[in-house]
Amino acid sequence: MNPERRRDKIDLTPEELVRYSRHLILPQVGETGQRMLKGSRALLVGAGGLGSPVALYLAAAGVGTIGLVDFDVVDLSNLQRQILHGSGAVGVSKLDSAIDRLGDINPNVHVEPYGTRLTSGNALEIARGYDLIVDGTDNFATRYLVNDTSVLLGIPNVYGSVFRFEGQASIFGAREGPCYRCLFREPPPPELVPNCAEGGVLGVVPGLVGTIQATEAIKVLLGVGETLVGRLLTIDAMTMAFRSIEIRRDPECPACGTREITELIDYDAFCNGAPHPTAPAAVVEIEPASLAQRLAGGEQLEIIDVREPYEWQIGHIPGARLVPLDRIPSEIARLDKSRETILYCKVGARSRFAAQQLADAGVSEVKNLAGGILRWIDEVDPSMTRY
Ligand SMILES: [Zn+2]
Repeated sequence: MNPERRRDKIDLTPEELVRYSRHLILPQVGETGQRMLKGSRALLVGAGGLGSPVALYLAAAGVGTIGLVDFDVVDLSNLQRQILHGSGAVGVSKLDSAIDRLGDINPNVHVEPYGTRLTSGNALEIARGYDLIVDGTDNFATRYLVNDTSVLLGIPNVYGSVFRFEGQASIFGAREGPCYRCLFREPPPPELVPNCAEGGVLGVVPGLVGTIQATEAIKVLLGVGETLVGRLLTIDAMTMAFRSIEIRRDPECPACGTREITELIDYDAFCNGAPHPTAPAAVVEIEPASLAQRLAGGEQLEIIDVREPYEWQIGHIPGARLVPLDRIPSEIARLDKSRETILYCKVGARSRFAAQQLADAGVSEVKNLAGGILRWIDEVDPSMTRY
């Protein structure tokens, strides 16, 4: 983006001077900032739960061009959270519904619609020329596509995701910060994705997270404030706890570190309609209380935490060691296969997958901690931080 160049050419009409008066009296925005917003281009991927508040607030704020990527039709079950769309739009394409609503909120804003699924074949072409991308997607395939597009084009990716009562937000792909792959190198195997089959969400949670994304997008476009670059914000609506975790760039990251990823990759769109793959065969589980009892009895167990380093930093089970899921295959050779090994993650899905890999490799006694560290916190050590 080169707002310095753009803003000089852009004038605000008398109508806009009135419309944006609450911005214009803020020294951090002012007429200069408002012209910068008018000259800005934001690409929004997904006009759903997250995309709704983002689109509404970016339009209201006067972001001059809003690109919208969505191929879906408004469904009655969307209205519980997708506040961009109304009851009258059920059965209408989300793009048409969005164009109507955004045009009503602010006719000065130009909406560029892309009625297509984002793919490796079109993402770079669509995103090129935008100042930032806002990720409002609900599946891993598109999330990685958005991340890699942002890194390849060198434009920030304002990230958000929600699950049940929880949400996360950050800015990835900025010059000074990490990208999504720095945290999660590869998409999880399809059998580990509970979000689709069990994907309930409290309707207001995407509203909270999307509003944070809109705030961050506006800050980036204005170049003001401390953004979420280098931080992952986690939100728990049940406890109303907001936590901000420092995240760093991984020099080994294939996207923004080694730059091995030079073109986009289509992962299977296993969410959103694709059949849910069958889970791996059952792995023996151990209850948190039973593990705690055995540890208290002084048993020396091999406990492996398969989460990501930032999750480990939030808290871990005493005596455990960290082997993130993607390093499990290389760790297997080093394991004492006759020793009882217990794996855990956040809720038990990633560790179940790792436990299966260990069992397949001949580790004789593998157990998965039931319910992951979240149940451990609930039932054994409530002093630990939930996330
Ligand atoms: Zn990266």
